[in-house]
Amino acid sequence: MLRVSDLRAGYAGIEVLKGVSLEVGPGEIVALIGANGAGKTTLLRTISGLIKASDGRVEFDGADATSRPTEALARAGLVHVPEGRNVFPRMTVRENLLVATWRRGSGVSEDLDRTSKLFPILDQRRNQQAYTLSGGEQQMLALGRAIMRDPRLLMLDEPSMGLAPLVASEVFDLIGKLHQGGTPVLLVEQNAKSALRLASRAYVLVNGSIAAEGSADELLSSDMIKRAYLGEN
Ligand code: ATP
Repeated sequence: MLRVSDLRAGYAGIEVLKGVSLEVGPGEIVALIGANGAGKTTLLRTISGLIKASDGRVEFDGADATSRPTEALARAGLVHVPEGRNVFPRMTVRENLLVATWRRGSGVSEDLDRTSKLFPILDQRRNQQAYTLSGGEQQMLALGRAIMRDPRLLMLDEPSMGLAPLVASEVFDLIGKLHQGGTPVLLVEQNAKSALRLASRAYVLVNGSIAAEGSADELLSSDMIKRAYLGEN
């Protein structure tokens, strides 16, 4: 579904991604874990066309998607939810959801129904301005906006960032539900334990290169991963 081969990218002459290859198959949740500064955000931004790749290839659904414009990729179903909550603070919850659909004439009310079912809290708060929502609710809204785009693959950058543990676990439950609905997910997380519990497979990014990959169970039980990313001895 998504295949990244030998991808290289960076900023102003600094190479951050040094030949990254990974795959997300239909129906999979794949976690990407790594320390601060490893290049996780840069990788998602390069896949979604926000940063131009200097080399390598991104394929989505068998077609070349390397450095294609972000909006074109989103219309093709590759939807990226960036780090931070990125809601329009002065718009209501409903308006935030509808922004994602402004180019479409049809299917919007079905998408609103589907999103409201997944996120009852957004329905309850539909007429509230987004800045009045809690951090967890704003994260739900950012996810809800992605769902309104009817994604064929979701890329989530640190969806639990800044959330209290209980709220973060609600967000993880929701990602699990999206996945049960059939949407494949590439999940970038600092919270490696939660990400590995949710994912079927994972990659570990170190200094812009994939240092390890395997099933989530293998990585959860690896001594190196336990020490470096799970805070265990
Ligand atoms: P974190 O978990 O802290 O978000 P990350 O793994 O997502 O880290 P990136 O944000 O991709 O890492 O950053 C990778 C490297 O690229 C870092 O050394 C960072 O300083 C650098 N970097 C990120 N954004 C820029 C930018 N706009 N200009 C220059 N360098 C940048």
